[in-house]
Amino acid sequence: MNHIMLRFTNSAMRAATIFLMAFFVVMIAAMTSAMAADKLADLVSDNSIPADLSVSGVRIGENGPVTRFVLDISQSTPFHVMTIKDPYRVVLTLPSLRWQLLPGLGQMDRGVVKNFRYGSFDHSSFRVVLDLKSAARVDSVKILPPIAADHVANYRLVIDMTAIDKSKFKPQQFGSYQPSVAVAAKPAVPEKQNVDPPVAAKPVVNKADTVKTIILDPGHGGVDPGAIGISKSYEKNITLAAALELKQLLEKKGYKVLLTRSNDNFVKLRDRVKFARDNKADLFISLHADHHNDKSVRGASVYTLSDKGSDAEAERLAEQENKADIIAGFDFTEENEAVSSILIDMAQQETRGHSVYYGNLLVQELQSASGNIIESPLRSAAFAVLKAPDIPSVLVEMGYLSNKKDEAALNKPEYRAKIAAAIAGSVERYFTKIQNSPLGMQNQK
Ligand SMILES: [Zn+2]
Repeated sequence: MNHIMLRFTNSAMRAATIFLMAFFVVMIAAMTSAMAADKLADLVSDNSIPADLSVSGVRIGENGPVTRFVLDISQSTPFHVMTIKDPYRVVLTLPSLRWQLLPGLGQMDRGVVKNFRYGSFDHSSFRVVLDLKSAARVDSVKILPPIAADHVANYRLVIDMTAIDKSKFKPQQFGSYQPSVAVAAKPAVPEKQNVDPPVAAKPVVNKADTVKTIILDPGHGGVDPGAIGISKSYEKNITLAAALELKQLLEKKGYKVLLTRSNDNFVKLRDRVKFARDNKADLFISLHADHHNDKSVRGASVYTLSDKGSDAEAERLAEQENKADIIAGFDFTEENEAVSSILIDMAQQETRGHSVYYGNLLVQELQSASGNIIESPLRSAAFAVLKAPDIPSVLVEMGYLSNKKDEAALNKPEYRAKIAAAIAGSVERYFTKIQNSPLGMQNQK
């Protein structure tokens, strides 16, 4: 009896267990598909992106020294992959697509990959950026078709990469996909008609359409005097005087010139950048005359944007300049956020080359105009005012107000005229060069 009871209880329990398990499986399946439908509905409701190409999964795996990044994609697609340093990244560009994954997937610390970011790059392209822990080499990029036998329903884009020593890093490119204007072209505001190289195929349009817009940015202003000279000259007054004089000179040469400020008022750094972008500027020149801790240092210098300062002095200067908003009581953190997005970051890479190219011409002109330039006069640092992602931008230190001779010189209209002539000359050379030679950027150091 006991025995029979036990057997009965056992089988009853087994039946109950099986029933419960089945019940849960069905419930979970129902809940999952309901959730999935929910998520899908959210994503599908965004009609702005064509539904042709989509990404439904992303994985990063390690196989010995190889880190493999995989995107599950709905169909085969042209792609472009490149490696970039400072910091080390792998950048994947695809045609516009639907990213069917929930946000927050970017934190995938695996192998050589620290994390990844993604987003629309322009109206027709999408970018995925892998931030790397170290220098790496991409071994291969391929698109694999679905494999029915293995129940792999998707195409997969697979990037294999291997960590390498810094000294071995080489920029690489894979794939034929050509992102539109904003990537390959001159750092242009995308919607603007692009008449400049390096897009060589574009026909030359009427002269009237090629009038270049130059933004002059007199440093500091209003509550922010900038540097104060030994004889009590204010940097903000010298930069404004120089900008107004330079404006006249450039306008005579046929350029459209706008100033971020034309009187003694304070303008936030971000608003200076925004002003340039709103006006679809072709070139941004910020004018300064700061102080140097070493009072004997004198002469002009030119700065371009860089994550890392080219030297301690450049870094100190950028830090000091970036405090302008804080000096005036604005919160600067907001600005840092604005410039950290993937889109801006990527476009900056393209623009940077143009800025450095122009900066070189400017240094040459300053050298021949006054001979008064500092040692290694072309430097770089993280100046907030140079962060327009699509406009070549430089910051000119016309001299140092901490130096007696520089201060005296900068107060003289004749000296400022020499500097203005040098800047105007470099502007002409720059636009002539990029107009006539699509490859000028690459060929010239
Ligand atoms: Zn300054």
